Amino acid sequence: MPFELNSPSFWEEPEVETELKRVFDICNGCRRCYSLCPSFTDLFARLDRDNVDGEAEKLVPEDLRRVTDLCYQCKLCFNHCPYTPPHRWDVDFPRLMLRSKAVQVKRDGVSLQDRILGQVDWMGRIGTFLAPIANWATTNRLNRWVMEKLFGIHRDRILPKYASETFRSWFGKQRRKPGAESAGRVALFYTCTVNYNEPETGRACVKVLEKNGIDVACPEQRCCGMPFLDGGDVEGARKNARANVDSLHALVKQGRDVVVPGPTCSYMLKQEYPHLLNNAAAREVAARTFDICEYLMALHGQGKLDTRFVKGAGEIAYQMPCHLRAQNIGYKSRDLLQLIPDTRVRLIEKCAAIDGTWGLKRQYYDLSRKVAAPLINELREIRESGAELTVSDCPLAGLEIEQDLKRKALHPIRILARAYGLEAE
Ligand code: SF4
Ligand code: SF4
Ligand code: SF4
Repeated sequence: MPFELNSPSFWEEPEVETELKRVFDICNGCRRCYSLCPSFTDLFARLDRDNVDGEAEKLVPEDLRRVTDLCYQCKLCFNHCPYTPPHRWDVDFPRLMLRSKAVQVKRDGVSLQDRILGQVDWMGRIGTFLAPIANWATTNRLNRWVMEKLFGIHRDRILPKYASETFRSWFGKQRRKPGAESAGRVALFYTCTVNYNEPETGRACVKVLEKNGIDVACPEQRCCGMPFLDGGDVEGARKNARANVDSLHALVKQGRDVVVPGPTCSYMLKQEYPHLLNNAAAREVAARTFDICEYLMALHGQGKLDTRFVKGAGEIAYQMPCHLRAQNIGYKSRDLLQLIPDTRVRLIEKCAAIDGTWGLKRQYYDLSRKVAAPLINELREIRESGAELTVSDCPLAGLEIEQDLKRKALHPIRILARAYGLEAE
């Protein structure tokens, strides 16, 4: 069945079990996603046991639960699958995993771990207000041990640092650049990572957009809600989605596009909000939402992008995040970076396996790092062959990269800002 949250049967456990077994049976015959992620590896291993012998019907609830828990919502299997809607087999593996998780949570309640990890805005406000203390606390070994015991956040996973001034506060103090409206008008959905942890990326977005004659507005907004969805808290995700759509839709009606410098968040606005809210406003916002590099490449396609860059970027190792690949928009960030003279971009399409909050959790940390190892190895090779910059649109992939390579991954928009001479290195 489609992802129909308002249908009573969506929430019925026997219905979910039947649907899981129906889809697992199709996957068993297909096996195309065999090595895509731990969820599929585990599913096929369970189906191949002697007592199951390839019959999905014989899987027990514990099997179904484990496959569900191992899915970190990278969405890669959706595009990989030939049987997605409108095919009559109607296979939407990632949303089936979401449904299965949501039904578990409706029965058992949201875990403390997921409640804490879902409170991105609340933690961000405290973290930025008390930035030096918060940053000390997230690196203090004793405190991390306590956080692991109480909240299940793995003690060794490095966490984003808090900025002492939010992006929103910085934006509120800026005088708008006169004339910055000639090429278009946008609403910036800046994302909570940018707001609380990486305001430099938001500043680069504003500077690059204004340089290109785009007027930028920053409406009221909350976290996109993905951390709630990760924890199976569909109501929490819907609440944030409603608030964001109300705020963004008002600006879309005034003719603004929505631009987003975060792949998970743009994915949420484009692909999940219409499912979560099922209304015209969510669909209209989705249709006008663009990843920031997608938006700038569209501008380039219309001959409106300023390509008078003042300096090259050299050799770049660029990781393309799963949630951009899942948007089917091509290689916009790479293409944008390649417009900069004296720049060579080496593309890596491998997963960092943090995806929302999954890779932060105590129980999945080791597995997450194992899945991320091929990405890290390739980045390391490229770095050793002389790449000066490591770039990713995804701040969470950036955490994994920083953890392993001790090198900060920059958002592509910052490389663009530097190439325009708008940001010092
Ligand atoms: S969404 Fe990603 S993690 Fe989940 S089952 Fe598909 S490929 Fe695996
Ligand atoms: S999700 Fe689709 S492509 Fe992947 S194994 Fe199942 S049926 Fe095959
Ligand atoms: S998904 Fe986006 S908006 Fe949501 S927590 Fe992550 S960065 Fe913030």
